[in-house]
Amino acid sequence: MEARSAQQIWETALGELQLQVTKPNYRTWLEKTTGLSYDESRFVVGVPNTFAAEYLARNQRSLIEKTLIGLTHPGVEVQFQVNSARVTATSPSIKAKYTFDNFVVSPSNRLAYAAARSVAEKPGASYNPLFIYGGVGLGKTHLMQAIYQLAQTENIKALYVSAEQFTNEFVSAIQAKSTAEFRHKFRHVDMLLIDDIQFISGKEQTEESFFHTFNELHNANHQIVLASDRPPKSMPHIGDRLCSRFEWGLIADIQPPDFDTRLAILKAKAKQQEVEVALDVLEFIAQRIRQNIRELEGSLNRAVAYAKLFGAILTPELAARAVQDISPSANQTTLTPELVMKAVAERFRLTPADLTGRKRDRATALARQVAMYLLKEANNCSLAQIGLEFGNRDHATVIHACRKISRDIDNDPYLRRQVLDIRKELQHPPEVRRR
Ligand code: ADP
Ligand code: MG
Repeated sequence: MEARSAQQIWETALGELQLQVTKPNYRTWLEKTTGLSYDESRFVVGVPNTFAAEYLARNQRSLIEKTLIGLTHPGVEVQFQVNSARVTATSPSIKAKYTFDNFVVSPSNRLAYAAARSVAEKPGASYNPLFIYGGVGLGKTHLMQAIYQLAQTENIKALYVSAEQFTNEFVSAIQAKSTAEFRHKFRHVDMLLIDDIQFISGKEQTEESFFHTFNELHNANHQIVLASDRPPKSMPHIGDRLCSRFEWGLIADIQPPDFDTRLAILKAKAKQQEVEVALDVLEFIAQRIRQNIRELEGSLNRAVAYAKLFGAILTPELAARAVQDISPSANQTTLTPELVMKAVAERFRLTPADLTGRKRDRATALARQVAMYLLKEANNCSLAQIGLEFGNRDHATVIHACRKISRDIDNDPYLRRQVLDIRKELQHPPEVRRR
C-alpha cells in the first residue's frame, strides 16, 4: 500500500497544473477531476465525461504525465476514466456569445459558415444533413450554437445536444422504459443539432436509435446538423447505412486558420473584451498558437491577465512568458525533417535512409508513417514537401499516413507510447533536457 492516496497526489498535481494551463482551460477540463488509483506504471484520473477524457488524453497527456512523474514514479502513464456517477448530469449549455456575428469568417471556414447560415435561415430547404467537421477548437460548436440561436429567434423549434447527451438519454430511457418520450423529444423538432457525433460510433443501440431518428426527421424535411472531429468515412465502427446518410447533404470542413485569420480572431476577441492590446503582441500570439482557436483565445486572456497581475505593459516578451506553458507546440524548437527522421529511425531501430527508401516491410512502413505524422504535426512543411522529403512520395500518401497514425494511436496504446516518447525526445533533446 502506498502511503499517499491517489487523491492526495492528484490534488498536488492539480496545484501544479493550475499554474501551467489557462484558467478557462483549468476550469473546463481539470477542476472536476479526481485521483482514483495508481500503481507503478499507471495513474487513473476520474473525469466527469467522455469529452473531458478525450480532450485531456489528446491535449494534455504529456503535461499531466510530466507532472505526475515528478510526484510518483518515472514512466508513469496517465489514464482517464469516466466517473459514471456524474455522467447523466452533463447537459451542454448554449453560450450567448456563440453567434454568427461573433464568428470570424476566413478561407478556412467559409464553406462551413455559409452552409450554417443557410440552414439556419431555411431549415430543411438546402443541405440536409449539414455535416461539419474539423479539428478541436476550430469553431464547430460555435457554429452549431449560432445556428441554434438564429433558429430560436425565428421561432423554429430546434434542439441542440451533444452525442454524449443523446446517448445518455437514450440509455436512461431504456432503463426507465420511457423510450416513447425519448422518441417524441428528438423526433418532434424542426431542427436537430447533434454535436460531436463521433461519440456515437461503436455504440450500436444508440446508433440504431439515431438512425431511425435521422430517417424520420429527414423524411419530414426537418433539418439535421451534425458536427464531428472527422469526416464520416473516417469514423471508426460506424455502420454503412449511417455513414452514407451523413453524406447525403453537405459535408463542410473547417481547417486550421492561417496567420491572417488568427490575427483577425485575436483582434475580435480583444475588442469583445474591451481590452487594448498592442498589434505586435497579437501578432506574436498569432504566430505561436496555430492549431486551435480555443488556445488562441486562452493565450490572449492569459497574456492580458499576466500584465494586469504584474502591473506591467503587455509586450511580446511578457506574452511569451505568459503563453510558454499553454501549448507544448508553442515553445517547440523548429522540427526539421532530418530531426524527425533521425528520432523516429532510432526508436524503430532503422536508419533515416530506410525511411526515405523503398523498403515496404511492416516495420519500415510504420516508422515512415509515424515520421510523416510527426512532421505534419510540427506544421512547418506542406504535405507536398513532406512527400518530397520521404523519397518523393505523393501528397495522398502523406495524408493517408497521417490519418492512419492518428487513428491507430487512439486504439493502440503501444504505438501511442512510442509516438509520445519520440515527441518528448524531439521536444527535449538530451543536451537540453531538464530532468
Ligand atoms: P470546436 O467545437 O470545433 O472544438 P469551439 O466551437 O468550441 O471549437 O471553438 C473554440 C473557441 O474558439 C470558442 O471560444 C469559439 O468562440 C472560438 N472560435 C472558433 N472559431 C472561431 C471563429 N472563426 N471566430 C471567432 N471565434 C472562434
Ligand atoms: Mg465542440
